[in-house]
Amino acid sequence: MAFKPANNIQDLQYFGEFGGVNPSISDASTYTFLSAKTMFDTFEGNADGCYLYSRHSSPSNLYLGEALAAMEGTETANVSASGMGAITPVLLQLCGSGDHIVSSRTIYGGTYAFLKNFTPRFDIKTSFVDITKLDSVEAAITKNTKVLYCESVSNPLLEVADIKGLAAIAKRHHLKLVVDNTFSPLSISPVILGADVVIHSLTKFINGSSDTVGGVICGTQEFINDLRNVNDGASMLLGSTMDSLRASSVLKNLRTLHIRMQQHSYNASYLAERFEADGLKTVYPGLKSHPSHNLFKSMMNEKYGFGGMLTIDVGSLEKANELMEMMQHRNLGYLAVSLGFYKTLFSAPGTSTSSEIPEDEQKAMGLSDGLIRFSIGLDADIERTYNMMTDCMVELGILKTHKGLELS
Ligand code: PLP
Repeated sequence: MAFKPANNIQDLQYFGEFGGVNPSISDASTYTFLSAKTMFDTFEGNADGCYLYSRHSSPSNLYLGEALAAMEGTETANVSASGMGAITPVLLQLCGSGDHIVSSRTIYGGTYAFLKNFTPRFDIKTSFVDITKLDSVEAAITKNTKVLYCESVSNPLLEVADIKGLAAIAKRHHLKLVVDNTFSPLSISPVILGADVVIHSLTKFINGSSDTVGGVICGTQEFINDLRNVNDGASMLLGSTMDSLRASSVLKNLRTLHIRMQQHSYNASYLAERFEADGLKTVYPGLKSHPSHNLFKSMMNEKYGFGGMLTIDVGSLEKANELMEMMQHRNLGYLAVSLGFYKTLFSAPGTSTSSEIPEDEQKAMGLSDGLIRFSIGLDADIERTYNMMTDCMVELGILKTHKGLELS
């Protein structure tokens, strides 16, 4: 039977302390015990249902974690203060001194910087590979490799990972496949396809209102228990805990994610098709011209589409900046990093979200100066948006004409 992630979220029922339709927020950092013995047992991890201290867990965080685990089809999940607050403990929990990671080379700049510049301090080395070439992934594995790391849809180049293929490699070599699914919530379910751990930056589509940072790690009960262990758990000891007030607001936003993803995908697909027809160099996994279009199709859950992210290349950074400024001036979106907002957001990744990646490596991976990354918003009238955006492109000489002009 097909996996239905939105049904899994919807089927969870929580009530507040006084029968409220939303669960009560746990407004406490610490919890009382009726007996000293129960407190001791809780420290030892042997008092189910007891709360100790909110860096470890809190009722509000557990509710949100449970809903995200249901969405991803994992036993459980641990929410964190940011996406990086999910990524870094996972990698430090799975790897120690002398270990090795094979990672996609097109990943979020912060993750790249962590693997390239930070983990070598602990003698954890990373090989960056073209994740779309399974033979180069396998060739990079050494006897010290512990983790295969990728994003289902990569930031910012929108490369698509073959999760089933990567899972088979991970299994053969006894590695953990860790997938950052931030760009494709609901559309792709990595664990159902064979991944071991799924991470999200909740800051993006899942929360959807650009008012907080947050993250989640979805995995087995055993792995999440390890992360929370008071003696050697990376989430517990590094301390990137989400606040309960935030957990409760993210949970409320999560309930509309299925509707928002459909609209993000519909709008992005509309713009991508029309931009491409106008002759713009457009990358969107929903376009037949995308090298992994069929792969995405084979992995996706029906209904949620190919996501809200697309890129165009307008030739130079100067043109990209002019266009973004003009589009912002005409209220077509904001010149801002991040993604998953109701409003379209655009940025030039080479000088912003991927600036941690050195220029020569950006070139090698195909990240060009004129690239603009769009997170397409929830616009009610996407045809009007298309016409206004391509008007800007004609005025700046990026396009000679556009189809909207010919029709009118
Ligand atoms: N993963 C991806 C794909 C991202 O785009 C980002 C942030 O831009 C992160 C992780 C990090 O998330 P956060 O900013 O919530 O720490």
